[in-house]
Amino acid sequence: MINITGLSKNDPAPGETPVAMLEVEGLNHRFGSGPDAHAAVRDLTFTVSAGQLACIVGPSGCGKSTLLRCIAGLIKPTGGKVRLHGDEVQGVPADLAVVFQDYSRSLFPWLTVAGNVEFPLRSLGIGKEERRRRVEEALGWVGLAGSQRKFPWQLSGGMQQRVSIARALASRPALLLMDEPFASVDAQTRFELEDLLRTVQREQGSTVLLVTHDIDESVYLADRVLVLSSSPATIVADLPVDLPAERDQITTRESAEFVALRGEVARLLQKRAA
Ligand code: ADP
Ligand code: MG
Repeated sequence: MINITGLSKNDPAPGETPVAMLEVEGLNHRFGSGPDAHAAVRDLTFTVSAGQLACIVGPSGCGKSTLLRCIAGLIKPTGGKVRLHGDEVQGVPADLAVVFQDYSRSLFPWLTVAGNVEFPLRSLGIGKEERRRRVEEALGWVGLAGSQRKFPWQLSGGMQQRVSIARALASRPALLLMDEPFASVDAQTRFELEDLLRTVQREQGSTVLLVTHDIDESVYLADRVLVLSSSPATIVADLPVDLPAERDQITTRESAEFVALRGEVARLLQKRAA
């Protein structure tokens, strides 16, 4: 539930230090070795607090997916450390979920919507009754309560991506990583999914780190935008987004604050590309 102060349940009380859910320290990643080595990520240091929705924006090919894969424990960084609520990430942590851009390849076509959402809960050792409850709850969050028995191929792209989001949230991850999750849907669906993500994130107090190459999307979604340079990715700015928590696809995007912020991000990206 959204509480009436507009703070998510993980926000610190006044005067309290925010809890760092994710700590990335001096992260480096190079592909290959010797003269053919290719640096994808260089010296990245940042933290994401519990309950925050942070966006990372950077040009295509700058190293965003590599960064997320390092955080998710899918690839071992060649330098630096990643900690999830204080524990160093070595291998994929059980309390982390990832949503990728390509929903058509991330859902199992032979499982129903409910089966897809339930699937990771089985490997977490969650009992049958609790699994059923969580599937129902997560599909309710994304507005798909009535589609449990459908198969992914019976759904639109936007609905399939909602299933991926429900599946990620059903395990109640400490951190949700999203890699350009709305880049493969049409503009109208993209707006709907952005609003859905913000609503669910605030209601559940989830901690989300989302990467995108879309400047407007990063500003619209985030509490904070980290701007990356072109390859190898380094952080060139860490901007707080002080837009009102209640956002609207038309009025927020028209507001002077939004226009100023998107201009600032665009200038930072342009300067680094020059
Ligand atoms: P982004 O997600 O920002 O588009 P990536 O993280 O996918 O960027 O890629 C960053 C750079 O690393 C690119 O130059 C890409 O070609 C390179 N790269 C990505 N994956 C590999 C890999 N497995 N082996 C070698 N180079 C890679
Ligand atoms: Mg990518």
